[in-house]
Amino acid sequence: MEEIPVKVAVRIRPLLCKEVLHNHQVCVRVIPNTQQIIIGRDRIFTFDFVFGKSSTQDEVYNTCIKPLVLSLIEGYNVTVFAYGQTGSGKTYTIGGGHVASVVEGQKGIIPRAIQEIFQNISENPSTDFKIKVSYIEVYKEDLRDLLELETSVKDLHIREDEKGNTVIVGAKECQVESADEVMSLLEMGNAARRTSTTQMNEHSSRSHAIFTISICQAEKNTEAAKDGSWSSRQHIVSKFHFVDLAGSERVTKTGNTGERFKESIQINSGLLALGNVISALGDPRRKSSHIPYRDAKITRLLKDSLGGTAKTVMITCVSPSSFNFDESLNSLKYANRARNIRNKPTLNFSPESDRMDEMEFEIKLLREALQSQQASNSQTSQIHREGTPDNRILSLEEQVAQLQGECLGYQHCIEEAFTLLVELKDTVSLNQKQQQKLQEWFNMTQEVRKVIPSSFRGSCGMGNLEEGPQHIRVNQLKRELKKCQVHRHCFYKITCLRTKFIWGH
Ligand code: ADP
Ligand code: MG
Repeated sequence: MEEIPVKVAVRIRPLLCKEVLHNHQVCVRVIPNTQQIIIGRDRIFTFDFVFGKSSTQDEVYNTCIKPLVLSLIEGYNVTVFAYGQTGSGKTYTIGGGHVASVVEGQKGIIPRAIQEIFQNISENPSTDFKIKVSYIEVYKEDLRDLLELETSVKDLHIREDEKGNTVIVGAKECQVESADEVMSLLEMGNAARRTSTTQMNEHSSRSHAIFTISICQAEKNTEAAKDGSWSSRQHIVSKFHFVDLAGSERVTKTGNTGERFKESIQINSGLLALGNVISALGDPRRKSSHIPYRDAKITRLLKDSLGGTAKTVMITCVSPSSFNFDESLNSLKYANRARNIRNKPTLNFSPESDRMDEMEFEIKLLREALQSQQASNSQTSQIHREGTPDNRILSLEEQVAQLQGECLGYQHCIEEAFTLLVELKDTVSLNQKQQQKLQEWFNMTQEVRKVIPSSFRGSCGMGNLEEGPQHIRVNQLKRELKKCQVHRHCFYKITCLRTKFIWGH
């Protein structure tokens, strides 16, 4: 698997009007015709991309983000995150502000990427696309669902799936059909974000926000596509995370007291954890393999993107003002360290075996949900919590129905192969080993044949009712999975045997 470094861009915003009015001096500049930045008199840093005060949104997008959109469509997970001090231009660059009121040229990364993703889809008529959007913020170390504000903090969990990818269990994923729909969800989520006025920034983001677009794609013109079903086709699922971090801030400069002060502490500790992860990953002399991802929610959420399987671009935003010299120097040092981080991007094909894994993972989650319900049940005797597990059961039921359909197909193949092999057995001379293998296959097929009728009797009436409906579903789903796996194994064996007969050894 090829290793590629995290790409690091630095963007220096222009002095703001109020900074000009207060006669702030510029202390950070791009060195013309290079990828270098100079801060103070002689500190020089080199980055993958550098943008000065007159760089446009279009330039930033085309240079850093366009390639990520193409990788997303190819099937890679991709991430862009904006890092930097409060008021340095992160939200402006990512495009997470009041998107509807922003003029075309000022639009940030997210609206441009959305446009391009849908453009790509419309130019790809031979592929079916399913697009989902979610929007989460980490506020004072708690997760909030910006698309479903009623969701309780306790119902959102960061987990790792069976492949080690980070997933947020319980977050609302809205299926969308058009760029406009995505934009209105983005606008809705932005409006719900925690921001407030500090001395450093009129609209200071007080949380880390992660806007995610996930794309599932499958070829249209295949045999399996004819019945319109998604799960019987090989598909690719890839995600684009847009991360707008809350800015690092000095409490003395922001003038924060009370609640704002407490927020500052949480924001800074999250960013400190991120800094530690970047240092640990980016230190070429590092001896220990331990990376402190678990120290904060934001580092857990960015695990795939930093040192993981995604393609990542980090955009470090800096203020040019000498008033912010220390913070800008700090940001540049972090950015420089991040250049040493290496990821191993992988394509996210989702063949049948992966779907089995996904179902097993779902079952694991269901079991855990059930256990925690049973625990709370013993105290409150309230069994049925909000519908999330039920929804999962419904989607699992759909998948099981699809797998049953596939099994019927395999069953048909087994029957055909059985007849064919009986004929061949009498006409082709086989050595002892081949005869033994064939007999084994006959025996195995007989076993499977005994099982098949019962597997299609439907899923009612089994299990111990006292265990509760979810428990019964979990057991039924496990049984269905097992049978599907047996049938698939059998089909695989037939294919091997057929190949051997055809090639005569
Ligand atoms: P952050 O999210 O890092 O706290 P913002 O994105 O909110 O900072 O930017 C602070 C202010 O600076 C905003 O008024 C924004 O419009 C302005 N700004 C940031 N970057 C630029 C830029 N490249 N060009 C013009 N104005 C900018
Ligand atoms: Mg911001």
